[in-house]
Amino acid sequence: MAPASVKPNSAGATTSTATVSAVSSSKVPPIARPLAGEPEEFEPEQAYFATAESVRDRLIQQWNETYAHYHKEDPKQTYYLSMEYLQGRALTNAIGNLDIQDAYGKALNQLGHQLEDIVEQEKDAALGNGGLGRLASCFLDSMATLNLPAWGYGLRYRYGLFKQRITKEGQEEIAEDWLEKFSPWEVVRHDVVFPVRFFGHVEVNPDGSRKWVGGDTVQALAYDVPIPGYKTKNTISLRLWEARASSDDFNLFLFNDGQYESASQLHSGAQQICAVLYPGDATENGKLLRLKQQFFLCSASLQDIILRFKERKNENRSWKWSEFPSKVAVQLNDTHPTLAIPELMRLLMDNEGLGWDEAWDVTTRTVAYTNHTVLPEALEKWSQSVMWKLLPRHMEIIEEIDTRFITMIRTTRTDLESKLPSICILDNNPQKPVVRMANLCVVSSHKVNGVAQLHSDILKAELFADYVSIWPKKFQNKTNGITPRRWLRFCSPELSLRKFAENADFQAEWSSAKMANKQRLAQYILRETGVSIDPNSLFDIQVKRIHEYKRQLLNILGAIYRYKKLKEMSAEERKNTTPRTIMFGGKAFATYTNAKRIVKLVNDVGAVVNSDPEVNSYLKVVFVPNYNVSVAEMLIPGSELSQHISTAGMEASGTSNMKFALNGCLIIGTLDGANVEIREEIGEENFFLFGATADEVPRLRKERENGLSSLIAQFKPDPRFEEAKEYTRSGAFGSYDYNPLLDSLEGNSGYGRGDYFLVGHDFPSYMDAQERVDEAYKDRKRWLKMSILSTAGSGKFSSDRTISQYAKEIWNIEECRVP
Ligand SMILES: *Cc1c(COP(=O)(O)O)cnc(C)c1O
Repeated sequence: MAPASVKPNSAGATTSTATVSAVSSSKVPPIARPLAGEPEEFEPEQAYFATAESVRDRLIQQWNETYAHYHKEDPKQTYYLSMEYLQGRALTNAIGNLDIQDAYGKALNQLGHQLEDIVEQEKDAALGNGGLGRLASCFLDSMATLNLPAWGYGLRYRYGLFKQRITKEGQEEIAEDWLEKFSPWEVVRHDVVFPVRFFGHVEVNPDGSRKWVGGDTVQALAYDVPIPGYKTKNTISLRLWEARASSDDFNLFLFNDGQYESASQLHSGAQQICAVLYPGDATENGKLLRLKQQFFLCSASLQDIILRFKERKNENRSWKWSEFPSKVAVQLNDTHPTLAIPELMRLLMDNEGLGWDEAWDVTTRTVAYTNHTVLPEALEKWSQSVMWKLLPRHMEIIEEIDTRFITMIRTTRTDLESKLPSICILDNNPQKPVVRMANLCVVSSHKVNGVAQLHSDILKAELFADYVSIWPKKFQNKTNGITPRRWLRFCSPELSLRKFAENADFQAEWSSAKMANKQRLAQYILRETGVSIDPNSLFDIQVKRIHEYKRQLLNILGAIYRYKKLKEMSAEERKNTTPRTIMFGGKAFATYTNAKRIVKLVNDVGAVVNSDPEVNSYLKVVFVPNYNVSVAEMLIPGSELSQHISTAGMEASGTSNMKFALNGCLIIGTLDGANVEIREEIGEENFFLFGATADEVPRLRKERENGLSSLIAQFKPDPRFEEAKEYTRSGAFGSYDYNPLLDSLEGNSGYGRGDYFLVGHDFPSYMDAQERVDEAYKDRKRWLKMSILSTAGSGKFSSDRTISQYAKEIWNIEECRVP
C-alpha cells in the first residue's frame, strides 16, 4: 500500500468556511470562521462542521504517526472483520478521548456557541442494527486506548439503519441519509483500491493450478475513519469499503449509441452493493445482494491485509508465508464474514502459489470466530446453487475443506461418524442444499468464542458439543464489554465506591446527579413525544431491538396489569403505590410482523394511560422513537430500573445491561447472557431476579409440546396473566386486532401449543419481582446503596478487559505505543 500519510481536508470538505485560528493562543484550537465578507455569525450546523474538521485534522496527524509507527515496528496486527459498526456520533467522543473539552468549549463560546448544543448537529453513523454492531464500535475504542496494533474493516453503506417514525399505524421506516451533507470523519483513499470479482468460472492451468476468471469485477475503494484512543496518541483505523464500477467497464460505445441504461448498468450494479445496511432477504435478489456484500468485505480486506504484510516484509528481508500468522490475526464478528476463510485460501493458493496444506495451515492459524447466537433461525446457511454461481472457486475450496474434514472423522474419530450429517459443512439435503457457515467457521478457525459465560457454556454443551470432543482447546469465552468512555456520564466506577455506598453525603450527591440526568431526560421526552413525565417517578426503561425473545410483550403486559389495578384502586390506595414511568424504545425489523404489533401495542397503551387523569400521576407509558446510540446516551444516565428479561438461554450476552448497571441503574432480569455475571459482580441482593433458568427452558417447552395431559390438568394459568390478556382483547387500548399477537402466548398456560418464549410461565415471578422493585424504591437509602453498588460492581464489563483477553488469549498481540 502507498504511504499512509494523509493530508488534512482531503475528505472534500464542502462547508463555506476557511480554517483559521479563532484565537492566536496555542492553547485554543483553530476553529474555522466564516470567509471574509460572510456574516460573523455561525449557524450551529456550520459551527459543528468547522469544529469537526478542526478535531479531525488533529486526529489525522496522530493517525499518520500511528500508521508510520506500526509500519516501522511491524508488530503482529489484528484485523476485526464486521459487517456492522454502530458508531453513533464521533465529535464528543473524539474531543473526550483527546482530552481537549475545555479548549474547544472555550473556543466555541467565543463564537457564541455551547459545545453541548453543537455536538447534537451530528447525525449518528448507524452502520449496524444493534448489539453486535455496537460491540464492534466499543472494541475499536478499546483497541486504540490499549495501544494495540488492531484495525477494523467494514462496509460504507450509503443508507444505514432506517429512521423509525411512530404513526397511528405503528412503526414507519424512513431511509436515513447519514451522508447527505458529507461526513467529516472519513477520508477517502483513492490510493487504496482493490478489484473484487463475482460470478465467472474456474480455469485449470496446464500445471493443475486453478484460476477464477470472467464474471463481473467491481472496485473496492477505501474510506478511513480515524479512531482515537483515550489519553494516548494511538489512533487506529476503521477502514470502510465502498463499491465502484471499474472505469474500463463503462461502455462508452453503448453510451454514445444512446443506450444510457445499459451503459450505466454496471455503475448501478456496483452502487447497489453498498446501498443499504441489510437488504431484505425475502427475495432471491435480496439474498444474493447480501451474499455479495459479505464477499465484498472479505475479499477487499484480505487483499489489503496481504499487500500490507508483503510490504512490511519486503522492506526488511526474505520471508516465508508460514510467518503470516505471526503477523496477522483475523477476527470474524459472527459468521457474516465467513467467506474470509475460502478467500484467504484462494488468494494463497491461486495468486501466491501455495499448496493446499501450506495454505490451510496459514489460514487456520490466522482466523478466529466469535459466535453471537444459538437461535437456529439466526445461524447463517447459504444456498449451494447460489454460491456456485456467485463464487465458483470458493465453493470448490469449501467442498475440499468439507471432504478433508469428513475423511479425518472417518479415519480418526469413527465414534463421531454418525454425527457427520450435522457436523459437516455442506448440508446436501436434496430439497435445499446449503453451506452451514458456522460449521465452516468452527472447522477452519483456531479459536471459537462465545460472548458471555452462560452462552459459551451452552455452545460447548449443545451447538458445538461434537467439535469440542475433537478440539477441546479451541473453545473459549470472552464476556462482552462496553467502553466506559462513551457509556459513563457522571461518575467513575472505582471499587473504592463500595466504601461510600452507605455514606449519607455521598448518597445525596449521587442522588442529585441522577436527578439532573432524569430532568434532562424528561425534557427530551417532552420534546420528542409531547408526553410530560415526572422526574420524581421511578424511571423504568427497556430499550433494545424489538424481538419476541427479548420479551417486550412481558413488560407491556405487566404495565397493562399495573394500569388495570390502579384503575380499580381508590384515590387513597393509589397514594401508597410507587409512581412509575415505563419507557420503551427499539426498532422492529421491517418485515417482522409480531415485533411491529408489539410497537403498536406499547404506543396504544401509552395513549390511553397517559391521558387517563385518574391514573396518570402514578403511571406513564412512553415509547421513545428512533432508538439509536445518541438516544441511548440520553436515556441510560437517567434510568433507575432497566429490564433485561429475555427467555433464559436466548440472549447471548446483552450489552445494554452493562451500560445501565455502570450508570447506577438497577436491573430486573432473568438468568440470561451477561446478566448472570453482572448479578455475581454487583451482588444478588442488588438484582431483581425472576423467571425460568436456561436449563429448565427445554423441559418446559417439551412438556407443552408433548401436551402431557396430567401436567396440563394440574396447570393453573396465573390469573394476573389471564387478566392482562383479556383486558387487552376487550379493546381497552383501541380497536386494533391484538388477538393474533396474544394468541402467540397461548400454550404453556394450558391450551394450545404456542408461547415458545414462555411469557406465561414467567409472568407470575416477573410480577412478584416488580413488587419487590416498588418496595425497594420506597426505601431511598436502600435504593441509593444498591445503585452505587451497581456502578461499583461494573468494572468487569469494560471492553478494555474484553479486548485485553482477546489480545492475550486469541490474537497473541501486544501493545505498540506511539512515542
Ligand atoms: C447497546 C446497544 C444495543 C444493544 O442492546 P441490548 O439490550 O444488549 O440488546 C442496541 N442498540 C443500541 C443503540 C445500543 O447502544
